[in-house]
Amino acid sequence: MRVEGIEAVRRILCVFPRYTSSFGTFEYAYPLTDGQKAFMPPQGLLVLAAYLPAQWQVRFVDENLTPATDADFEWAEVVFVSGMHIQRQQMNDICRRAHGFDLPVAIGGPSVSACPDYYPSFDYLHVGELGDATDALLRRLADDVTRPERQVVFTTKDRVAMSDFPIPAYELADIRRYMLGSLQYSSGCPYECEFCDIPGLYGRNPRLKTPQQIVAELDKMRELGIADTVYFVDDNFIGNRKAALNLLPHLIEWQKRTLYATRFACEATLNIAKRPEILEKMREAAFITIFCGIETPDPDALKAMHKDHNMMVPILEGVKTINSFGMEVVSGIIMGLDTDKPGTADALLSFVDDSKIPLLTINLLQALPKTPLWDRLAREKRLVLDDDSRDSNVDFLLPYDDVVRSWKRAMELAYEPAKLYARYQYQCDYTYANRLKVPISPEMKTWKNIRRALIMLRNIFWRVGVLGPYRRVFWKFALGRLRHGDLEGLIGSVLIGHHLIMFARAASSGQQNASNYSIRLREASVPAE
Ligand code: SF4
Repeated sequence: MRVEGIEAVRRILCVFPRYTSSFGTFEYAYPLTDGQKAFMPPQGLLVLAAYLPAQWQVRFVDENLTPATDADFEWAEVVFVSGMHIQRQQMNDICRRAHGFDLPVAIGGPSVSACPDYYPSFDYLHVGELGDATDALLRRLADDVTRPERQVVFTTKDRVAMSDFPIPAYELADIRRYMLGSLQYSSGCPYECEFCDIPGLYGRNPRLKTPQQIVAELDKMRELGIADTVYFVDDNFIGNRKAALNLLPHLIEWQKRTLYATRFACEATLNIAKRPEILEKMREAAFITIFCGIETPDPDALKAMHKDHNMMVPILEGVKTINSFGMEVVSGIIMGLDTDKPGTADALLSFVDDSKIPLLTINLLQALPKTPLWDRLAREKRLVLDDDSRDSNVDFLLPYDDVVRSWKRAMELAYEPAKLYARYQYQCDYTYANRLKVPISPEMKTWKNIRRALIMLRNIFWRVGVLGPYRRVFWKFALGRLRHGDLEGLIGSVLIGHHLIMFARAASSGQQNASNYSIRLREASVPAE
């Protein structure tokens, strides 16, 4: 669906800001690929681009791939920006550049919706989701593209139903240069973890697209040369279990129709391990990875952060159950919690060893605005908002330096190459072996696809096997995979593993942030090439 009743014609430049370097930006993996430069196409701006009046011209620039040029700004009449808190500085920078061309700039998305006061320079603020505020903003721009004298704020009261969302304008994105495709089925989460801003921003009653919309989006991505793996960016894929069960048969049918050339990944709560009927269907639909916010293996800490649902099954048992359906678990971990003790890093490292999870995003606790954590710490006067030298805005109960030292030690030891590759070895032997066996599709046997794999192997052997700093560990793992004829396991594990090792080395030596939201080292942003 598009907005209706607008006759003017406009030229809109949508600019997605660079990410600050973090565990999830995968910049050390890109040189090993066949030309990928960014993680996933952004959903929000591409949905907005598809919602604009049909006669409006749109350019989309993702600055993680390439910077917006003077020619882009000269072409445009209006600039749209969207992003998360981690991109705040870059969003303000885009606004400054656009104002250099006297263009009005509108900002929407999760960061401005939570914190409008972070963006005083923008001409238009779009607070909330796609809805009546979007229509009002577009009507205003249809009438007038001069910059308003003072900032105008549009706030959504009536949201567009997700079942009326247009297919994101994937055709505007250079989809082949992303590591993953992205897709959204639902929005919102029924839980209320203390640190999380999702329920506050998107509600506790997940809203949904229809399975038919998802299939149409997949078809469109396929036409455009979809990446091998598509990530469901839903806050919690099983936030509405009935809806997940409703969607999965459609995904299975789609996979059969397209001969299983695509893999899926998603985010879900760990209690998915209690739902074998969902896991079995996910296996059939070729889901290969689930990101679970495990946060901590400490039950007292889970209780304190209101994440008791992680304890519906013993955590290690839950991970093993998910692995038994062929899906690797990726885990979010938080350090610096009030329940942390001097032995927390050791307990975490034991958990890493026992769970055999290769990829854990280990971050220091950061309080986000509009969360119960923020409110509590504000009451306790434990928010530190005026010290840019820190890696967290939380005044920890343990001494700050001890917490940061523990985090660095955890990063260093969790991503010690031999340990990480031992965990990947387990995944290859156990988890990946449990995946659905599908015949190699004709698409995978094309020269184009074989060439891609050869380029990646060449890059891996040269950059990691010859030039890399952990060659012995690499070759032990790689030769084992080659003996098994497992190129997919080899390429997939090394692409991610290399990023983790190199990022962790930079982090433990103080060259990277201890939190995805830390403002320290903002200058170390991922360069747009
Ligand atoms: S389960 Fe995940 S998305 Fe839901 S509130 Fe907790 S952290 Fe947020």
